[in-house]
Amino acid sequence: MEHWDGGLMMTHDDLISEAEKVLKPVTKGSRMHADVGAAVLSEKGKLHVGVCVDTWGWGICAERSALAAMITSGEYAFQKVVAVCRDEKTGKLHVLPPCGICREFMRAIDPKNLEAKIILGPGREEALKDLIPHHEWPQPLN
Ligand SMILES: [Zn+2]
Repeated sequence: MEHWDGGLMMTHDDLISEAEKVLKPVTKGSRMHADVGAAVLSEKGKLHVGVCVDTWGWGICAERSALAAMITSGEYAFQKVVAVCRDEKTGKLHVLPPCGICREFMRAIDPKNLEAKIILGPGREEALKDLIPHHEWPQPLN
């Protein structure tokens, strides 16, 4: 899975599998943590993972958790990202599209991420820019 320049080459299935590995649902009081896992492949081909944290006052999605790990390592741009959760009743794994806050976060940390791929299923991806159309700073009215 290693690329010539040391970066990883990862397919949708690889990234989905890495996101699945970090799923570890824990209930604390009425809140559940780590029931969504995310994996992001940075621009340089480094893998970062994260889970959601759900608290009363403030929580964070798995995608932003993984992106924060990427930023901690010094990168802001990424190639692709995926988030997954497992349905407790059926046991089936699902790919989740990022929420609006995560989409905007991805754009805000580096405008290059508008070209990054958001994995929406094993054979399905969309560029971030197609998930947040009309993202340009508005022109003055007059
Ligand atoms: Zn989100």
